[in-house]
Amino acid sequence: MNNMKKGDHKLIQALNRSKVLNKIRTDGPISRIELAKKNKLSPSTVASAVQELIKEGYVSEIGTGSSSGGRKPILLQFNPDNHYLFAVAITNSFLNLAQMNLEARVLRKETYPIEGLQGNAVIERLLELMDDFTAGAEDLERCVGISLTVPGIVSDSQGVLHYNTKLRMTDVPLRQILEDRYGMRTWVENDMNSVVLAERRFGDYAFGNLIYISIGDGLGSGILINDSLLRGKHGGAGEFGHTSVNRSGIRCECGNVGCLDSYISWIAVYSRIITAIATGRPTLIQELSGGDYSKIVPSVYKEALCRGDKLAMDLNEEVAEHLGAAIVNLVNMFNPEALVLGGEMAHGNPELLAMVRKYMDRHAMPILKDDMVFGLASLGEDDKLIGAASVLLQDLFGFTLTE
Ligand SMILES: [Zn+2]
Repeated sequence: MNNMKKGDHKLIQALNRSKVLNKIRTDGPISRIELAKKNKLSPSTVASAVQELIKEGYVSEIGTGSSSGGRKPILLQFNPDNHYLFAVAITNSFLNLAQMNLEARVLRKETYPIEGLQGNAVIERLLELMDDFTAGAEDLERCVGISLTVPGIVSDSQGVLHYNTKLRMTDVPLRQILEDRYGMRTWVENDMNSVVLAERRFGDYAFGNLIYISIGDGLGSGILINDSLLRGKHGGAGEFGHTSVNRSGIRCECGNVGCLDSYISWIAVYSRIITAIATGRPTLIQELSGGDYSKIVPSVYKEALCRGDKLAMDLNEEVAEHLGAAIVNLVNMFNPEALVLGGEMAHGNPELLAMVRKYMDRHAMPILKDDMVFGLASLGEDDKLIGAASVLLQDLFGFTLTE
């Protein structure tokens, strides 16, 4: 009984501390008195939390504020650069490592191609790279932890990657591997979940009911409902690419037939381009890639689009129709406040966004789509690293949105 009370007290202290830290972060520079008022905490609770935060370097005192008389209060501000974190973003083609500050800003990063590695070889390569990367960081005691994101079915609570078909990884205890090797607290999360959090916390989409859809090598989604990630029992919620669109369609690696992925992922579009070229259809894509099929990548496709290439435009329209129909399902199912389109095929492709919007306007329920925000992803190429940082910052410090 006694122990439980002690535990409760500690928990409340930790909660108050993160409330105070958050307020300083979002509203600073701010005085202790204002902090107490805004958080509805007693001045002594605020004072002891602040004292701890200053001692640990998360917060510092700066100058003095205005006062309506009497002694001017000392102001407090958040120090995002006094500590840092390591972010790791595994994609199906690259390993990205970064050192980031506590506002998810990249301080240093390195990117390596996976080059066809699979299974254990991916982990071995990652650890090799991380050994060097962490050795290049000063003051490891200022590091608050490691956060890793990876595509596939991920259990965040166990820190295990259950399943990634492209990298041939099954039940990999990533958190334990990294914690054992580096002795730092480690977080593991699905890449799409991390990116939707990042758009919410650090991007242009500050909505608690938010859906992120990525269209690239594959299709994925991250779904935020009332500010909580929708994970499902095994962490598999949001497998948007494996929703059925054709009952007698192409067989998919997931075991189903006619998955959306098989029709509009980059792999599907790429094979459509190759077929068109092979059957003699003229296209700028052939010229832009110098006739080398391996050089046909999404950026070449988008360049052809920009230049008004008929094949690229036809394919883009076809993708928009399929994607539009699938997105109408999401809008009608989840009634999000905002929906964000990201991934290699969407970046720098405003025509795709416009065509999907048009489709949605014709087909989604008016009350659900009329005031829904729909736009392109806002965080650029570091989105998954910022995502990894968001996961850690939310869990460790309870970082919330600027209110
Ligand atoms: Zn499938």
